[in-house]
Amino acid sequence: MSAALSARLAALARITRAPSPVVSVYLGTRWADEHQRERVRVFLANEIKKARALPGSALGEDLDWIAAQGEALVQQTLFPGATGVVLFACGPLGLREALPVRAAVEDTFVVNDAPYLRRLAEIVRETPSALVVFVDGESARLIQVGTDGVGAEVTLESDVPNRHRQGGWRLLAQTRFQRHIEEHRGRHFDAVAATLADVADEHGVDHIVLAGEAGALVERAAPLLRLREGAAETAGVEAVLTEAAKGGRATAGLEATLEAAGRGAVHRLYVLAAFRQAGRECAACGALQPGDATACRRCRGATKEVELGEALVQRVLATGGTVDTVAVAGGLARAGGVAALLRYPL
Ligand SMILES: [Zn+2]
Repeated sequence: MSAALSARLAALARITRAPSPVVSVYLGTRWADEHQRERVRVFLANEIKKARALPGSALGEDLDWIAAQGEALVQQTLFPGATGVVLFACGPLGLREALPVRAAVEDTFVVNDAPYLRRLAEIVRETPSALVVFVDGESARLIQVGTDGVGAEVTLESDVPNRHRQGGWRLLAQTRFQRHIEEHRGRHFDAVAATLADVADEHGVDHIVLAGEAGALVERAAPLLRLREGAAETAGVEAVLTEAAKGGRATAGLEATLEAAGRGAVHRLYVLAAFRQAGRECAACGALQPGDATACRRCRGATKEVELGEALVQRVLATGGTVDTVAVAGGLARAGGVAALLRYPL
């Protein structure tokens, strides 16, 4: 995961009840043709026009800034290499943030009293260091790419004279490759694919870029990686649900998870990608509650409507927790769409 991006995410999550509305804009910036580019222009123009009708002391200037950034993105004078860009603006807070991201982004425009962070949290989780792989029929070169540029490299070959001179992930890669070569009796591509899956697993590398005669390798590696990713996710969710059922350091379901998040007790939140539910946030004590009561259940303070998925994500990030967006429904759907691993039992 990108350390700089996750630090920004945590800082943004601490913004609640801003003095003037916060404008959050997500734009996909990989345009195939002029037609797609024009569609983004129209999307932005429409949303900005709608937002100008909303109350807010600094909103006008914020929207001007968003419009200028949007135009620079469309003309590709700003972040020409980015896959997507996320913008946040709030004048009174001095917030003028444009974050390029390496992930697909759906065009989204939100004006609210806090930054809209749910998709960004997902992106941060999905954007760790990458591995670039050059492979031919006899060898493979693995090059690590971090947020700060190109890192260590290892060449995988069937016989290895200098194994002891390498350390860390390179030693791991080489050792695993050796094992797979033996297992697969010289089937080079199978061994490279299996090695990649091992390294990706054990070093949290989620992005792998393949170059060279990659066709055969991609065919073998892709399903393997997908399978493991799904399996790891399912295992994480199952462990949390089991722990919650035992009354341990975990919660399952909306009520209990909202309660835990309200106390700042969530270490890791698991939330279904499709989870959306309207609820209330207390302006006085900050409690998050399902339903539509205009008075807080706890302190009788006035509440306002929020989308609980986004509110949960924001609360957990603001209190130093992490968020795992779960694509596969399964047990988490049966538990109500949210669960959490806690720092301490409630
Ligand atoms: Zn309250």
